[in-house]
Amino acid sequence: MASKGRGKFLRVTCLDCDNEQIVFNRAASTVQCIICGKTIVKPKGGKSDVFARVTEVVR
Ligand SMILES: [Zn+2]
Repeated sequence: MASKGRGKFLRVTCLDCDNEQIVFNRAASTVQCIICGKTIVKPKGGKSDVFARVTEVVR
C-alpha cells in the first residue's frame, strides 16, 4: 500500500476569516492564514493536520 508519498496542494478556506489560500498537505512547518494568522496546517509525522475547509485538491 505504498501510496505516492508526494503530498498534495490543497485549496483551503480559513474557518475564521474565509480567506482562501493554497497549502501543502505535507508541510514541514506550521502554516498560518495570511490574513488572520490562524493556524491552518500543522506538521504531524510526514502528513499534516489541516485546520481549514478544503475546497479543492490542486495536486
Ligand atoms: Zn483566516
